[in-house]
Amino acid sequence: MLLGMYCMIGATMVKAQEQTNTSSDGKYILVEDWPESSIRSNMGQPSGLGIDREGNLIVFHRADAIDSSDPKRLISKNTMLKIDTHSGEVLKERGDGLFCWPHGLNVDKDGNIWVTDVGLHQVFKFDENGVLLMKLGVTGEAGSDTMHFNKPTDVAVAEDGSFYVSDGYGNSRVVKFSPSGKFMFQWGEKGTGEGQFNIPHSIDLDGDGNVIVADRNNARIQKFDAKGNFLEEWRNEVGANVYAIKAAFTKGGLFAVDYRVENDGAQILGSNIIQFDSDFNVVNQQGRIGAYDGPVCRYHDIEIDEAGNIYVVDLLENRIQKFERGSID
Ligand code: ZN
Repeated sequence: MLLGMYCMIGATMVKAQEQTNTSSDGKYILVEDWPESSIRSNMGQPSGLGIDREGNLIVFHRADAIDSSDPKRLISKNTMLKIDTHSGEVLKERGDGLFCWPHGLNVDKDGNIWVTDVGLHQVFKFDENGVLLMKLGVTGEAGSDTMHFNKPTDVAVAEDGSFYVSDGYGNSRVVKFSPSGKFMFQWGEKGTGEGQFNIPHSIDLDGDGNVIVADRNNARIQKFDAKGNFLEEWRNEVGANVYAIKAAFTKGGLFAVDYRVENDGAQILGSNIIQFDSDFNVVNQQGRIGAYDGPVCRYHDIEIDEAGNIYVVDLLENRIQKFERGSID
């Protein structure tokens, strides 16, 4: 019901979003007419974002998926888009016949594309040409041992090729694997304490190899060392769930997107983009402007390009937005 309403007022939403951001401190401004408008006919609910080695934006989306719980119903259409970050043009599409319910996406330093599928309970690694290199988890089988996931949400790859999986909706853990995909260790359980999770939803590494996790329904970000020892956390004081994080300290800091509802979800307040320095101090925040009758967004992932521009995907409106760094006077 709500989804339909927001779709119908799409044009108004974009306009108001722009006004919101240009009236802030001017650091990031919505880029209008980006990406190309024809993208809407190619794309379903967009869930994951990455930047490839050529600087293009890679989008993981749900095309015409209708059932997240039936692993036999694979999406027949393409689920990945490669978009020129400057022109907004779609350069390539792929990923048909492989996925049930696309979720997280990450591009590693070698250009490999890692994705998670919460319907299949699996993690996939492809090279930049789309060749499947690795598949972890058992198709359609949820579990919590070393061979299974339960709706894994995201992947982060370390310098040495080892990688971490946030797992996920069904489990409340982070699992580390060797470069060849061998289980190494795990941490986390359901809860609100240090090192516990309530939907670890997005994961990334900082320049020191520390592991940063968007602990979604605990409305916080947790930071661990490479072995999973808790270091520190940031709590979202307004109580908004933290959906995604991106450690981009050479391009402006740590970025996050949150999503806030009230009255058991009856009132949607929308998403913020939050920018932190390396000490978890908030340095910029924009997007949601509070309870009002106008547009809202539900940002599910965030990515930063080389120039420091921000990209977000909005589940409510099935769209990708680009925010450019404005001039700082
Ligand atoms: Zn999600």
